[in-house]
Amino acid sequence: MEWADELAARVSGPQVVNDSKTPSGTVHVGSLRGPVILDVITRALRASGHETTLLYGVDDLDPMDAQALLTPDAVEREMGRPLAHIPDQEPDGHASYARHHAQRFIDTFAGLGVHPDRYYWMSEHYAAGDMDPYIRIALDRADVVREVYRRVANVQHPDTWHPISVICPTCGRVGTTIVTKWDGERVFFECRADLVTWARGCGSSGWASPFGGAAKLPWNLEWAAQWSLFGVTIEPCGKDLATAGGSRDRSDAIAREVFEREPPINVPYEFLNIGGRKMSTSKGRGTPATLIAEVVPPEQLRLLFLRPRPNQAIEFDPDGTDAIPRLFDEFDRLGDAIAGRDVKGELPLGFANVFRYSLLDPNADYEAEAARFRFAFSHLATLIQIPGVDIVDAAAQEKGERLDDIEWASLEMRAVAAKRWLEHFAPDDAKIEVQPTLPAEAAALDAQDRAFLAAFSERAKELAADRGGPAGPAVAAGGDAWQAAIFETATEGGLKPGRAFRALYLAFLGRPNGPRAGWLLAKLDAEFVLQRLREAASAATLPA
Ligand SMILES: [Zn+2]
Ligand SMILES: [Zn+2]
Repeated sequence: MEWADELAARVSGPQVVNDSKTPSGTVHVGSLRGPVILDVITRALRASGHETTLLYGVDDLDPMDAQALLTPDAVEREMGRPLAHIPDQEPDGHASYARHHAQRFIDTFAGLGVHPDRYYWMSEHYAAGDMDPYIRIALDRADVVREVYRRVANVQHPDTWHPISVICPTCGRVGTTIVTKWDGERVFFECRADLVTWARGCGSSGWASPFGGAAKLPWNLEWAAQWSLFGVTIEPCGKDLATAGGSRDRSDAIAREVFEREPPINVPYEFLNIGGRKMSTSKGRGTPATLIAEVVPPEQLRLLFLRPRPNQAIEFDPDGTDAIPRLFDEFDRLGDAIAGRDVKGELPLGFANVFRYSLLDPNADYEAEAARFRFAFSHLATLIQIPGVDIVDAAAQEKGERLDDIEWASLEMRAVAAKRWLEHFAPDDAKIEVQPTLPAEAAALDAQDRAFLAAFSERAKELAADRGGPAGPAVAAGGDAWQAAIFETATEGGLKPGRAFRALYLAFLGRPNGPRAGWLLAKLDAEFVLQRLREAASAATLPA
């Protein structure tokens, strides 16, 4: 998290962090990296003592340009109109199409722990006249704006082009109008049938006032005007906007040369690239992007976004891989390291901040959170597949005492995530079905395998005897003890551990692979385990 701390160290005075979004369509999980970065910056600024305001804008005067988002009867009427003026397409009571879709992203952000101090609606600021001074400057300096477009973006606008779009007083469209004259108070506009391909203007033209919500600045100017209006000091943006000559460059130049203000500090960020594209078509339900947000809880999703530096792309391929379990493991590892427990592998620089910023509550006591008991995700994913296992009991046994309320809630959330992961993403070898009778596949066991199983059944008897013997409801020793016993027995018998695990999987699951066998055996009924081990071992004597 050094990048956020470095940023906080190089600014002075009160800070205004801003971003804005057009309220249309669905919220793609990849697009959530931006809000998480905004939130991290805000938290880092506040942590270093800067008075900080986080703003989030709804660009709701933008024209509707995506036909697929409208009901068929609304396409002809609504395309090209401002999103704020289009009725909600769903019967759930929002004041407009824009309000409906903005609510979706506001809710999504809140679920991720991103809580701007204020959401602002551009339609309201235009209507209130707040944008009028910037509209006047932009029109007065239309030649400067055209020159910026030519120089920065190599876009040639005709000399009559003016940087404003009137909302057509006849048809209500804003995407179809062009302004060719400005007399200091009014503009001359035309609503053209063929200005854009996605909407058809009505053909009307005339002089109109551009003020008080009757017109809208083009995006690059609106963006730069937002910076002036709200005093924005820091605004990250996605790399698609941050290219040379791209949107950000244009707005930066407009801020300096037209509105005469230094643009905010940029923190360009890369995207989340989701692998396993085949999934969206082959499994037939949802896209990986929407499913990821359903499977991965918010704190692990925050970790995914903020662990690399913003300028590093994130490659995430959860389909048929252990990418999601590894995300949980990393979260747990950072927490364990903070709590002073032994962890494997190198820790990232500033790992305590990575963990702290992953938490939903910015004011959480992160050391207390780190010290809590967390049930390993893969372990949980195995347990929930074993019939009759009570995960609350299993967790209490693992922790050594009852879980507290927060740990219990986190366990529940992980159990839901594990179920969804098994359903949508898990590789086949993470899925288990304990066979009620010795599977036919056990015929593949050779003499050496069977000798191992015979030896291991003796160890199993000892492990089971730790608590009341094999007649008990569940084998007493924990999964780790069982796992260790498998390794030891294999090594003593001169069998490679991989071979020993294969023998166990064949005997219990009827296939050569599976999740950690120790966890599985520890949770199965003791009598059943012993009987199956003996059965599989003695199948040795039978002709294959
Ligand atoms: Zn609605
Ligand atoms: Zn019109």
